[in-house]
Amino acid sequence: MEIAIVGAGAMGCRFGAALQDAGHQVQLVDPWVDHVAAITRQGGLLIEDESSSRLVELTANLPADSTSTPELILVFGKAMQTASLIGSVRHLITDTTVVLTLQNGLGNIEAIAKFVPVDRIVGGVTTLGTELLGPGRIRSLGDGDTHVMQADGQQGSTVGTVLAAFDGSPITVDVSPDVQTMIWSKVAFNSVLNTLCSLMYSPVSALPAYPEFWTVAGGIIDEIVQVAAAQSVTVDGDKVRQTIAGATDPEMSGHHLPSMLQDLINRRPTEIEHLNGEIVRRGRDHDIPTPHNELIWHLIRMAEATRDQRISELPH
Ligand code: NAD
Repeated sequence: MEIAIVGAGAMGCRFGAALQDAGHQVQLVDPWVDHVAAITRQGGLLIEDESSSRLVELTANLPADSTSTPELILVFGKAMQTASLIGSVRHLITDTTVVLTLQNGLGNIEAIAKFVPVDRIVGGVTTLGTELLGPGRIRSLGDGDTHVMQADGQQGSTVGTVLAAFDGSPITVDVSPDVQTMIWSKVAFNSVLNTLCSLMYSPVSALPAYPEFWTVAGGIIDEIVQVAAAQSVTVDGDKVRQTIAGATDPEMSGHHLPSMLQDLINRRPTEIEHLNGEIVRRGRDHDIPTPHNELIWHLIRMAEATRDQRISELPH
């Protein structure tokens, strides 16, 4: 199968390499010039894991230089890049192209639907983790689960194309009717942990040191449960709390630094508009007050706006 990965950051590269390993013809497409140049120079992508490092032969192109008509396109940039990424490869899209998004945040399917009919879009979630080490280099962070569903709620040939692509690849993908619940539950999880770690400049394990952590987290989660319900999506707030409790356990992944904190430190835009920001906007549409999410949304945008003036020690 010909496959294009549009937005080939940490996750796009990992999924691209897995699909190449499964025998497909994969093209990475990304607007980051140094990254595309490094992959081209190396003859592929360098992938590290806990024990080894290898080169996966892959081609990479800037969007304007991408060619062919892939059967499947994976959009894998950050949520705020989705519209521009899919727009930048509109010349690759035919009447039969299937598009898959496993990105975090709300609004990715809607952005893709401006270019591709909803019955040819597949949405999903993945718990795989990957780190971008630099141009042309990633580190795989363990294993995870990946669940998908057609954006129109059907289980037809569109999702069949996605399953066929991953068949025989190192990434296991299954179809789940609960994908919308999973997407929103992950939004709730990230709207708590990504944001609070970014504001505190701390790993996730540090947050419960504040005795009223659950008052803050619970306020954010309860509002998201209400907004999701208004959009006919059931989110189990207790389950989100349990997942957060597990994630903040120092024995588990507790020392993890969420991507939003890394983006803030690296002076890159964050996905805030597609997390708490989108909850606020959708809450307004349904007349649901979202004061916890609104304050967090403002604070992250304020942290982005003031990050160049952040002080780490008192002036002498
Ligand atoms: P990423 O930040 O690694 O890459 C996204 C894009 O950012 C790239 O396509 C690239 O164009 C650009 N970019 C990155 N570093 C750059 C630099 N130094 N200079 C210029 N451009 C640069 O994104 P990701 O972590 O792969 O995340 C993609 C999506 O998957 C997001 O929605 C994310 O929330 C989600 N996700 C990520 C992980 C993870 O472990 N990384 C896990 C699950 C879901």
